[in-house]
Amino acid sequence: MSVPQISFENMRSPYADQLSAGFPRLRFAPALEKEFREFYIKQTVPRGRISSLVALVLVIAVTICELVFGGIQADNAVNVVRLGLLCPLLTMLVAGIYLPALERFYSQVASFGVAAVGLLVTYMCVVSASAGASYVLAGTLLVNLYACLFLGLMFYRAAIISVFLVGSYLVMGIAMQLMSQELFYSAAMLGTAAVIGMIATYNLEHAIRKSFLERNLLFELAERDGLTGLYNRRIFDNFMRRLWRQSRREETAIEIVLIDIDYFKVYNDLYGHQVGDDTLKKVAQCISKRAKRPFDFCARYGGEEFVLVLYGPPADYAKAVPEQIRQDVLDMAIAHEGSGVGVTVTVSVGVAIARPGSGRSLTGAIQAVDEALYLAKKQGRNRVVSMDASISEVETGKFRTAFEELA
Ligand code: GH3
Ligand code: MG
Ligand code: MG
Repeated sequence: MSVPQISFENMRSPYADQLSAGFPRLRFAPALEKEFREFYIKQTVPRGRISSLVALVLVIAVTICELVFGGIQADNAVNVVRLGLLCPLLTMLVAGIYLPALERFYSQVASFGVAAVGLLVTYMCVVSASAGASYVLAGTLLVNLYACLFLGLMFYRAAIISVFLVGSYLVMGIAMQLMSQELFYSAAMLGTAAVIGMIATYNLEHAIRKSFLERNLLFELAERDGLTGLYNRRIFDNFMRRLWRQSRREETAIEIVLIDIDYFKVYNDLYGHQVGDDTLKKVAQCISKRAKRPFDFCARYGGEEFVLVLYGPPADYAKAVPEQIRQDVLDMAIAHEGSGVGVTVTVSVGVAIARPGSGRSLTGAIQAVDEALYLAKKQGRNRVVSMDASISEVETGKFRTAFEELA
């Protein structure tokens, strides 16, 4: 048995579009980019906060160790910077990152904070190196990797900070007349670490972006019919219930259009189920392109039946759309030798308009559209039959029971 292919044709999903377009520059289409950034901040802030706290604790621990074992001298510039500037600055950075009021500015606070910390650490490294203690270079290296990997900054920010720190090291090294061989060697080490950090940040952000798109697409797919890409019955029921309440509140008319393919059982028998599936997709497309206003909505109601809901349509529009759908299906000229109404695939369309103040319930409106479709079939198929939901005398209706509890 083959795995069924999910069709995106009728979905118009921004997530599916972005996934197939790719994002090598780590940028989505503007609306999606905004949504992603909000998601990204929510994901990365907790990680950034914890790693900042860990960094602060480590710096304090190292300082205490030096105090106890190394004997810090107050006149040593490195120690003055560490005690007087680095520890307070790091504490401010952690506090800034933890402040809920600043959460919106997390990336700004974190990048300025880590750049300032990096600058101080670089200064300490260069001063130590000029005094012959090159091992302190590891400090700059760590800040660089910390900015890239643990703070949760996006690639471009992390890259700018990395380049800034390597550049600062070079400038300070030259200013403090480090030996050129040592300066070159250290800068090469720092540069390599920066490149590794940038590659890792790029890959990480790319993976987070991809999982964001796939996760949202999965949510969308749960609401879709796998064959046609239209919304499924469950979503239609929920949506219809809400839209109905809204229409009563806002005193707006709702038009319900029910579309059923004519002689589709015979079509399947003649051409096979696979061809039947393709035709269902094509008919679904004719319907989905008519749901273009903000609250308009279409769904696969079941089998070869589709439903389109138009919210507050102007009178001529309400009349034109069902007829356009019927005509569009006819215009596709899909051969149907077994049809009782012609030689191509056709649809019968039932229409019910529920006007404000009509006094009918949602159940009544659904019954009316079902009745209209029944009449379209009875009167010869390949036609549109409309019914005013407020006046119809309902006799039959397979939708009735399904919607009884929605009233
Ligand atoms: P009418 O003109 O009265 O609507 O006749 P009909 O044959 O279209 O109606 P009926 O309800 O008897 O048959 C519907 C057919 O739709 C039966 C079923 O094989 C077909 N069908 C339902 N779902 C699918 C599907 O997902 N794929 C395919 N290929 N066929 C489907
Ligand atoms: Mg049917
Ligand atoms: Mg049918």
